[in-house]
Amino acid sequence: MSEIPEYNPTDLDRAAVQIVLERITESQSSAPECVVCGQRANILDRFGACSKTTTAHQEHRAELEAEENIMQKRSR
Ligand SMILES: [Zn+2]
Repeated sequence: MSEIPEYNPTDLDRAAVQIVLERITESQSSAPECVVCGQRANILDRFGACSKTTTAHQEHRAELEAEENIMQKRSR
């Protein structure tokens, strides 16, 4: 059996992780929020949803797409 070496982060490791996490939070603070899950994402699709493919996201896209199609038919 192979042994998995125990990971003991040093204070320096923890500090580095903290800095990276803060930078990520900072860079995302101006990003728009997904209308489905509320997660900030740099890129939202034209339905205002992030790139997740959960059922909720798929249903949201399908709903708005159906609405779009109806609107387009009406405007013709
Ligand atoms: Zn989302």
